[in-house]
Amino acid sequence: MNKNFEQLDKKYVLHSYKRNYINFVSGKNATLFDDRGSDYIDFTSGIGVASVGHGNKALADTICNQAKNIIHISNLYYIEPQALLAKKLVELSGYDMRAFFANSGAEANEGAIKIARKYGEVDGEIKRYKIITLKNSFHGRTITSLKATGQEKMHNFFGPFPDGFVYANDIDEVISLCDDKTVAVMIELIQGEGGVEPQDKQKVKILQEELKKRDILLIVDEVQTGIYRTGEFFASNLYKIKPDIITVAKGLGGGVPIGVVMTRLKDIFSYGDHGSTFGGNYLSTSASCTVLDILKSEKDSGKLDKRVQYFSKKLGEFALKHKNIINKEVGFALMRGLRISDEETLLKIIQEAKKNRVLLLRAGRNTLRFLPPLTITKAEIDKGFERLDNAFKNIF
Ligand SMILES: *Cc1c(COP(=O)(O)O)cnc(C)c1O
Repeated sequence: MNKNFEQLDKKYVLHSYKRNYINFVSGKNATLFDDRGSDYIDFTSGIGVASVGHGNKALADTICNQAKNIIHISNLYYIEPQALLAKKLVELSGYDMRAFFANSGAEANEGAIKIARKYGEVDGEIKRYKIITLKNSFHGRTITSLKATGQEKMHNFFGPFPDGFVYANDIDEVISLCDDKTVAVMIELIQGEGGVEPQDKQKVKILQEELKKRDILLIVDEVQTGIYRTGEFFASNLYKIKPDIITVAKGLGGGVPIGVVMTRLKDIFSYGDHGSTFGGNYLSTSASCTVLDILKSEKDSGKLDKRVQYFSKKLGEFALKHKNIINKEVGFALMRGLRISDEETLLKIIQEAKKNRVLLLRAGRNTLRFLPPLTITKAEIDKGFERLDNAFKNIF
């Protein structure tokens, strides 16, 4: 069976991913099972998506019940769970904003860029359009969000790109790059793909103040950091800042595709300025409402914080035990990384971990990345680190 699907995949699917040919057939929380019945500890949650774990019953019930009624009717009509989800996002964030619903992180960022460009318009003319992003950033794969991504190596082959993106080496350089055409700055508070690289809290605060003085918008890409990933609802809450625009995706739908752009500029769009066929439909928004209900209750009951503490303790112990291989621990809460000396060693670790049935991600050049489900149990955490320890024993 397995071999057969592997051949089909290779024959009929474009080869844009370097696949691992494990055939996962079921999952329970942070544990996945392959077609041979072997269990794997999932420290990736499908790149920060399966926030309430695999096979979550409450989420499955919501999706199932919703699908039996209405999945989609279009944004030409009022969609009750969409309005409810917008309310939840605004209330949980603590920011006085409105939301627009899309289907992915890249699309949420496209919306953010459109909002910024519209903000730069005066009397029908775009006076300010430049958006500053960071060199090590990641904002998505569409032509515009790829251009917003500052990593030059990702810009091969796909030009010409839209104009107006300027890259700062780091957050310190941002203000010096602002000119009279600059309308926004877009950052990740903790760069995900770039290597689980957190920004300095004080520097972000100062940046926000300086941007405010210049009437330049601050866009925070929370596609990876949002929805309790860093222990708070948004990383912006953790950093105690008030962005003008926030984008969300990955963990919000628990696996159902959804992207959101939220802004304090409540009246920025007029009818027809932006839209999405699928965005905010019954299925994705009702699923996301349930994800938020689950995670809010985990946070309010203190369970999430306890889990974060336990994961941090285990990660710290692991890093200490292997301090000859691990240079540094980075990240917050359940968005964590271990810096390894070099890329080759990192890839070897991920491969050997997989053989020992624990799934991990890479980030940047040399970071072993952990994005477990936010509902991961102590037993799963223990098992995951035990297996990773065995993987290290086999390599080093
Ligand atoms: C994953 C990611 C994106 C892109 O999201 P997609 O859903 O893949 O389009 C954008 N920004 C950040 C910070 C991400 O981590």
